[in-house]
Amino acid sequence: MPELPEVETTIRDLKRKVLQRTFLDIWCDAKKLIKRPKNFEKFRKEIIGRKIMAIERKGKNILFFLDRDKVLLIHQKLTGHLLVGEWKRERNSWIPKEKGPLQDPANKFIHLMFFLDNGLMLALSDLRKFAKIELWDKDELFKSKEIKELGIDLLDEKFTFEEFKKRIQKTKRKIKQVLMDQKIIAGIGNIYSDEILFRAKVHIEKRTDELKEKDLRKIYKYIKEVLKEAISLGGESISDYRRPNGSKGGFDLKRKVYRREGEPCFVCKTPIKRIKIGQRSSYFCPKCQKL
Ligand SMILES: [Zn+2]
Repeated sequence: MPELPEVETTIRDLKRKVLQRTFLDIWCDAKKLIKRPKNFEKFRKEIIGRKIMAIERKGKNILFFLDRDKVLLIHQKLTGHLLVGEWKRERNSWIPKEKGPLQDPANKFIHLMFFLDNGLMLALSDLRKFAKIELWDKDELFKSKEIKELGIDLLDEKFTFEEFKKRIQKTKRKIKQVLMDQKIIAGIGNIYSDEILFRAKVHIEKRTDELKEKDLRKIYKYIKEVLKEAISLGGESISDYRRPNGSKGGFDLKRKVYRREGEPCFVCKTPIKRIKIGQRSSYFCPKCQKL
């Protein structure tokens, strides 16, 4: 699932390509993606003719601020990612007009397409069709539970060590689960939580009430470092994520534990272990990260 670095990368790339563009029309062959309003024709009519004034991230949500106080919210969920380019319709599928990264097989699951007034298209490629698309009145969105309940953003200036500590110490759960809890801090998912805890040398199942001050300091430091590095590299593409131009992010090469089960730890050569935490495969070095 795209996490903060991927969503941030998507937004930075989108801003360069679709700001000030107006939606001319929409095509969709998986109408269940549209959650609000649930009626696709109603959604389509509301979107057509609206201009993209700003694009912002809220947790892992992408918010397109449209004219006349509407907000298009897109959450890419497990396998969705937004692409910008030009395609043509051939034999029931969308084919990129030009050779290049949009031809990557991860980009071929296009189920939603917005046509823009400069000839470009904004597409959602989503293998499993779990993404969420909603159109809100601006006021209502910011009053909604899902936005109000989001935890502090990792790139927010207010995300200081003291704030982090306060939030973590309210819980008595496994640190990995707490890092992934969007109501506590927003933006970290399965991949980066493993990468952060490996660098901090903290076991992924360590209970938060057993963490020492020095562990908390290390975790905080590596949250900042790992996310900054991942953003500068355009995110990861071990999963289905691709940048809006279709290309892969560069974090894969920096990965130390995620999906490296059985491979030697880069620090001590012990094989990396995989366990399930809350249904999610999680990776750690049993020697560097002691419980
Ligand atoms: Zn190790």
